[in-house]
Amino acid sequence: MALDTFQVKVREHQLLASKFQYVDFELIHPPRIEFQAGQYLIMKVPGMEERRNYSISSPPAQNHSVETLVDISPGGDGSLFLASLAPGDKVEFMGPAGHFAVADPTSDIGRQEQKLLFVATGSGISPIRSQLLDLLQTKRDKREIHLHWGLRYVEDLFWEGDFRQLAQVFPNFHFDLVLSRPPRQWPLCSGYVSHCVAAHHTDFSKVGAYLCGNGQMIDDMTKFLTKKNVSREHIHTEKFF
Ligand SMILES: Cc1cc2nc3c(=O)[nH]c(=O)nc-3n(C[C@H](O)[C@H](O)[C@H](O)COP(=O)(O)OP(=O)(O)OC[C@H]3O[C@@H](n4cnc5c(N)ncnc54)[C@H](O)[C@@H]3O)c2cc1C
Repeated sequence: MALDTFQVKVREHQLLASKFQYVDFELIHPPRIEFQAGQYLIMKVPGMEERRNYSISSPPAQNHSVETLVDISPGGDGSLFLASLAPGDKVEFMGPAGHFAVADPTSDIGRQEQKLLFVATGSGISPIRSQLLDLLQTKRDKREIHLHWGLRYVEDLFWEGDFRQLAQVFPNFHFDLVLSRPPRQWPLCSGYVSHCVAAHHTDFSKVGAYLCGNGQMIDDMTKFLTKKNVSREHIHTEKFF
């Protein structure tokens, strides 16, 4: 499908924690976007031929603006461009792009996914946030939904309170935060997020897994889930790098 080109304006730019920044774009032309939770935007970086991809972290129900989450640590043209944006700045992107979407529960694949397992590392939480808000708040999905999110340091934490609140409002949603370099006396899971998933769950039958973030986690989780007899069509992935 042909992509649309959007002219947008920065509405808000916030430092969330350490290397993570949030940018909210107001759509100017066209004024509305239709997308599936999990899709991304192809950002034009001024002065550069190549473009960079950034997932939409807001849910599709919010269609006059899009929120993004940027890890600025790569320090290349894309992340530095987003980091430099201030309210009022105009930007162009194309989209929505990608196929990292939760399987339609009425489709052949979706019907078999009676439990949903989301695993993210770092900024890989961005499309998963959109998917979770869409499933829980918009669609009122009643399946058991687990989120395991791996960050490195305690200084990296953000949105933790939001996910905890979501878990209070929606009892079928469970949130597990993992730090790979935790401080002393960290009460939650630590180490690789894939190890924490393995420690948390025993039954992987009828699971639909949605993995987003670095390639190592995606490879580890895919191997692990395959060993647990989760077939490839139920392992949905979006690799950022
Ligand atoms: C489908 C898709 C969606 C994406 N969505 C997001 C998103 O929502 N938020 C986001 O921050 N990034 C996202 N990315 C990554 C983003 O497109 C860029 O690759 C990233 O911002 C680095 O671009 P750059 O120009 O700053 O650095 P470059 O000069 O392009 O890259 C420098 C190096 O950093 C590596 N790298 C890229 N990302 C990371 C990272 N997070 N941590 C460590 N190393 C990294 C690259 O592989 C490369 O080796 C997504 C990538 C894809 C493919």
